[in-house]
Amino acid sequence: MTEIFHYSVDADGVATIAWDLPGRSMNVMTLEGLEQLDACIDKALGDEAVKGIVLTSAKADFAGGMDLNILAGMKASAGDDPAKGLFEGVMQMHALLRKLERAGMDPKTNKGGKPVAWACPGTAAGIGLELGLACHRRFVADNPKAKIGLPEIMVGIFPGAGGATRVSRMLGAMASAPFLLEGKMMAPAKVKAAGLVDEIVPADELQAAAKAWVLSAKDADIVKPWDAKGWKMPGGAPYSPQGFETFVGASAMINGKTQGAYPAPKALLAAIYEGAMVDFDTALRIEARWFTNILMNPSSGAMIRSLFLNKEALEKGAVRPAGVPDMRVKKVGILGGGGFMGAGIGYVSAMAGIEVVLLDRDAEAAAKGVGFITGLLDESLKKKRITEDKKAGILGLVSATSDYADLKGCDLVVEAVFEDPGVKATVTKAAQEALGPDAIFASNTSTLPITDLAENYKDPERFIGIHFFSPVHKMMLVEIIKGKKTGDEAVAKALDFVRQIRKTPIVVNDARFFYANRCIIPYINEGTRMVTEGINPALIENAAKQLGMPLGPLQLVDETALDLGQKIAKATKAALGDAYPENPADPLIDWMVAEGRLGRKANAGFYAYDDKGKRQGIWDGLAAKYPLAEEQPDVTEVQHRLAFAQVLEAVRALEDGVLMDIREGDVGAILGWGFMPWSGGPLSWLDILGAGKAVEITDALTEKFGPRFTTPALLREMAQKGETFYGRFDPAAKAAA
Ligand code: NAD
Repeated sequence: MTEIFHYSVDADGVATIAWDLPGRSMNVMTLEGLEQLDACIDKALGDEAVKGIVLTSAKADFAGGMDLNILAGMKASAGDDPAKGLFEGVMQMHALLRKLERAGMDPKTNKGGKPVAWACPGTAAGIGLELGLACHRRFVADNPKAKIGLPEIMVGIFPGAGGATRVSRMLGAMASAPFLLEGKMMAPAKVKAAGLVDEIVPADELQAAAKAWVLSAKDADIVKPWDAKGWKMPGGAPYSPQGFETFVGASAMINGKTQGAYPAPKALLAAIYEGAMVDFDTALRIEARWFTNILMNPSSGAMIRSLFLNKEALEKGAVRPAGVPDMRVKKVGILGGGGFMGAGIGYVSAMAGIEVVLLDRDAEAAAKGVGFITGLLDESLKKKRITEDKKAGILGLVSATSDYADLKGCDLVVEAVFEDPGVKATVTKAAQEALGPDAIFASNTSTLPITDLAENYKDPERFIGIHFFSPVHKMMLVEIIKGKKTGDEAVAKALDFVRQIRKTPIVVNDARFFYANRCIIPYINEGTRMVTEGINPALIENAAKQLGMPLGPLQLVDETALDLGQKIAKATKAALGDAYPENPADPLIDWMVAEGRLGRKANAGFYAYDDKGKRQGIWDGLAAKYPLAEEQPDVTEVQHRLAFAQVLEAVRALEDGVLMDIREGDVGAILGWGFMPWSGGPLSWLDILGAGKAVEITDALTEKFGPRFTTPALLREMAQKGETFYGRFDPAAKAAA
């Protein structure tokens, strides 16, 4: 047996249980870990010579959370009754934490227990913090890198090892929202201010402080408020005047934020509400039932798979070509470095410690890039995220120029000049003179084929697409595009670069609009087309939001600008000629652009905006030109049109070989354009729906609305064979088999 928890007792009789999962830099909870921890607790409580316990970690941090495969394991091991397996597994976890919390005290008198201190050296997430919450006093090291919180809600579950019940009972339902509902990870000082941590001490005094407390604690110090007589829920229990306000408000807030699309926040609130009316142990049982309910919902499994497991796998290089040595970037040149995207790429590169050369048409244009980067750094400075020194250090990495000779020594160049093939050809040719044979050249184009652009470069094997999303410093996805001749070193370079700047990559083959834009454009087109059919814009927008899309299609066009949409439509038409499918929304967009309603940037678009740029309702001039139809469609039909416009493109991208890995299709969709995160992505959503049901819907849509909804042959075949995308295509499952 490998030792995960080290157990020792010192001369004063204080037992230390130190977590140290072998072979990992960060502790995560495993089934074996739970068993060992349980045994350590039994040993300490059963040994008369032990006066109390310090629970700590032998690593720099306490824990990153639960190994999420445990939950899948509990489910699988229960055979025909996975819910029972999960519920019992979760209840065992509750029993363990509760044993620690009661620490052997007499159930009636609350006397005779052993004090348990939590000595947390750094980050504690998920079950890491939940373990701390079960202890009697929490000490955290004054570690500037430490982040503490319960991020479970971000992957579609909630803190189900007592976190929901303990935090809400410590802080009240309202004050616990940042931890439970928003999943915020915070610096120790903030967690202490909120009331979840008792003491912050210098790192080298952490163990001593915890031990000293254990030795001095009295019986009354170790009784949790909810185990003492007369306990009342802070902020009010449900049936109190204050509680009425809190819970009615919370329910409205959750439904407003999630639009009903996410099951976990509702289940969390139900667990807190119901739990607040009963004793603590019953509350834990209620929490376990809701937690099981959420784990049984396919949404949580799909979210964990895409937003946790597969996102991490892609970030760690799951699709990196084998055998290519480390290609990390030391010096990056950015063509068009004074522009909106170029400066953003410069910022994220410098933040990662990479030397940056911003090149633009002239010195003035290039200096704009430095101005943009300085602006972002100043904002961070104001928010105390960085120091003056750090700012100076980052700016010291950035230079601006209009001289191509300054690109000398760059091992990567990212081109982000105007979206014009002529301009791109000119700058590519000018740059290549200064670049050595090992350099890689990348284009940030959103619409031009990489294979064509590569012909401008001396070595098309070393040419690749690195497509950022806007704004670069906020958007997590980077789409890497392989042209026909792109070689493995270029792919490895792009992936290593994306890893350096801490974003998530997907690698796709070259085709019109690559992957993300290929899927999002039909969504916008479908939404705008509905306006021309007289469908109420409010119905269109709300139907989209209730699907879990972050923005309705009309708001999305406003944000990205109508003239950009018009430009893309025109370019597509020119490229496709007769093959361009007639789009009734084109005249609508042309008219809006002619009216000067270019979207948010013009303070006028599908929506009206006030003088300060705040979005108001739908612009009332729209109905004058496109009157509402007397009969409005069912919301489900609107949702099917909006969702299938996107997912059918994802399936076609897989069929065409543009997508090479379904994990990238799902992760890319959520991070790239916010596709219904609760579903785990378009392919996960089709698996939840079932291929058979999906085909039924697309056949009906095709009949009613035309060939843009034609069922892809792959989907039909899968329906016939009863297959799922993850059953048939999951590389992770194949690797494990
Ligand atoms: P932008 O107009 O803000 O920036 C372009 C920059 O290129 C300007 O600073 C301009 O001076 C410079 N430039 C133009 N001609 C040049 C030349 N001959 N030599 C040197 N510099 C020159 O445009 P942007 O929005 O940053 O877009 C840049 C690229 O990024 C385009 O290919 C675009 O398709 C792509 N892109 C844009 C977005 C977006 O949301 N804006 C998203 C993804 C990709």
